[in-house]
Amino acid sequence: MSRFRFKAALAVAIVMVSAAVVGGVVAQTQSSDEQALQPVSQPADRGVETRVNSLLSKMTLQEKLEQITLLPDFKVTDQEVRAGLGSILSVTSATQIRRLQHIAVDESRLHIPLLFAFDTIHGFRTIFPIPLGAGASFDSQVASDDHKYGAREAAAVGLKQTYAPMVDVSHEPRWGRISEAAGEDPYLNSVFAAARVKAIQGPDYSAPDKLVASPKHFAAYGQPEGGRDYNTTDMSEQRLRNFYLPPFKAAVDAGADTAMCSFNALNGVPGCGNPYTLTQILKGEWGFDGFVESDWTAVSEMRACPARNPDVGECGHGVAADGPSAAALALNAGVDSEMTSTLIRDFGSQLLSEGRISMSRINDAVRRILRVKFRAGLFEHPYAPVDPDKAEDEMLKPDAVKAARDAGSRSMVLLKNDDILPLDPSKKTAVIGPLADDQHDMLGPWWGAGRDSDAVSVFDGIKEQSTGPEPVTAEGCKLSNAEPPTDDPEGCGSDAGFADSVAAANSAEQVVLAVGEAREMSGEAAARSTLDLPGRQEELIQAIEATGKPMAVVLFNGRPLALENIVGDTPALLEAWFPGVQAGNSVADVVFGKVDPGGKLPVSFPRRLGQTPIYYNHEPTGRPCDAGSKYNSRYRDIPSCSPLFEFGYGLSYTTFDVSNLRLSSSSVSPSGSLTAMVDVTNTGGKEGDDVVQLYIHDPVASISQPVRRLRGFERVTLKPGEKQTVTFTLDRSDFGFYDNRGKFVVEPGDIDVYAGDSSSANMTKSFIVTG
Ligand code: BGC
Repeated sequence: MSRFRFKAALAVAIVMVSAAVVGGVVAQTQSSDEQALQPVSQPADRGVETRVNSLLSKMTLQEKLEQITLLPDFKVTDQEVRAGLGSILSVTSATQIRRLQHIAVDESRLHIPLLFAFDTIHGFRTIFPIPLGAGASFDSQVASDDHKYGAREAAAVGLKQTYAPMVDVSHEPRWGRISEAAGEDPYLNSVFAAARVKAIQGPDYSAPDKLVASPKHFAAYGQPEGGRDYNTTDMSEQRLRNFYLPPFKAAVDAGADTAMCSFNALNGVPGCGNPYTLTQILKGEWGFDGFVESDWTAVSEMRACPARNPDVGECGHGVAADGPSAAALALNAGVDSEMTSTLIRDFGSQLLSEGRISMSRINDAVRRILRVKFRAGLFEHPYAPVDPDKAEDEMLKPDAVKAARDAGSRSMVLLKNDDILPLDPSKKTAVIGPLADDQHDMLGPWWGAGRDSDAVSVFDGIKEQSTGPEPVTAEGCKLSNAEPPTDDPEGCGSDAGFADSVAAANSAEQVVLAVGEAREMSGEAAARSTLDLPGRQEELIQAIEATGKPMAVVLFNGRPLALENIVGDTPALLEAWFPGVQAGNSVADVVFGKVDPGGKLPVSFPRRLGQTPIYYNHEPTGRPCDAGSKYNSRYRDIPSCSPLFEFGYGLSYTTFDVSNLRLSSSSVSPSGSLTAMVDVTNTGGKEGDDVVQLYIHDPVASISQPVRRLRGFERVTLKPGEKQTVTFTLDRSDFGFYDNRGKFVVEPGDIDVYAGDSSSANMTKSFIVTG
């Protein structure tokens, strides 16, 4: 199968007009979102296919079934490796990887190397901001740096596959895994997915510092009912195709050569038993010729409970009666590699003789795995590029650490600022709160091989940049990460430490109050039933506010929080997410004004949990929300229709004016394109960052269209008075949409274009798509 992949070009260009040469075009480049989305086209490598076929022809059935098997660290035995095991996940010791690879290469009959995999969701050892935070940067370079260094460090220990990027769009803030991708928007997620894949794989992932990427979790895992992880999802075809699949398509177009199917059932069909998504869409429509691995025990979980044949192991979905049925369902649906459970291996021979699976499908699965191993260069270079005892030298190198620090500060979003920030480093600062002097939580969920001891706490970061009296710190209260949860499941249930915190505030001239969630409160299996600040942290904020000291609240969290109760008591609010290994330095850079907080929210922050799901790109209703009257789509106890902070929102230490939206044409043919230009000017007194955002809306369509859809963005850095013109190109990939039969349609009629620096932008122009 050809690896040549096409993507409808989404051309977005940017023309920069500097203040110094107003009106003069000084540079014309592709904008960052467009560059990230450029498809990667690689011609079929006939050499690889010949080698795959030749090797395949030598394999016994048992060896093929071993190749399909993917075992975690604690299940692997040397004997399994000798028998021809395909892949291993979560072994991260360079010495152990080298040892196991030697067994595979030297002692297995066909000498097929193992593929070693790990989750580097936001870094291997140099941990970057959580992906939701990185999404807030609206800067694909942040995503790219994260995975460039993550791949380099992972490859140094001998890993060759990463279970990343996680690209699940989500409108569900209770779900802990909303932390792992770029939020609620398909376009932003697509740009980030593509940037991450390219950084992981490079142009050729056989390079010594590259890995093969595995976008996950295919598909629609981001919308579990009730926000409970692994829970079921039911959605229309148009929803699936317009919201949830685009980031996967972008990842595949960027060259991703593996993918992971998801735990959840979609319309009753589990992700790893779904021939429609895995075979028809991914492998068929999109031409994906790499392999699909199941998520952890997801094949076994398709069995009905109690588990049958074997009588142990995972079960639940009830779409397969027993182990053999689950194995047949998964393989026939399109799973090529089974993670942790071993049903395809254990029952493959029996299923084949019963005619429930075919040899051609087994061959196809093995061919896909071998293809990736050949492309990864594993047959030529099965071992890590550095000796195991030198691997540590590759970790936390200065370029990676600097990139993590920059990424941390570029991800921060200034939600409110009553002239408090930036603080003055020459004044005495009290750094207060459960996350003030914390290293552990700063890494966020999915910390890879990160170590708490590598992380810079907020207190240490502030201390480092303070030029006056030594800062002081006080914890206030303790967050809990007990598992299973205790009577005080989130911690901070006591105010016993508040007096010390108040004393610390009183002893200082200004306060940084570091509050939020423990890192274990988001990520996998970490749903919350409330979006409030855990425990009594709201009271802690009020107690410090009562001291009258200038105070900035810095939030660390892996999901949108409901901040209605604190926003009034808080003169300055900075959303820092979990910034990673350089957390304290990144926070200090922003708090003291070295870096302008130019991030924007990649997800809506509701006023209250009851408003969720609340997302900017919702469809309209026949009774649009009007908080002031009855019989419309409102909450009678919330005097507003909006979230507290909308998608795309964020302040800066300077001010911007986004103006003068103009279109190159008032009409376009269904296959044509036009440009939208908009000016952005720094109208304040400091250099700073803004994110110019372009949205469209199709007011009359055969399927009700979202009230806004992001179709372009560009983060700009401007000096005071400086102006830049940003140009976006719109074509059918923007104004078309998928219908409920899964068909992409471009309908004639008006399209409204909005430009500004948040999703509530109201500067608008329209054009007509001709018939
Ligand atoms: C998660 C995946 C992860 C896998 C291996 C699963 O529980 O859902 O995202 O890649 O474990 O660590």
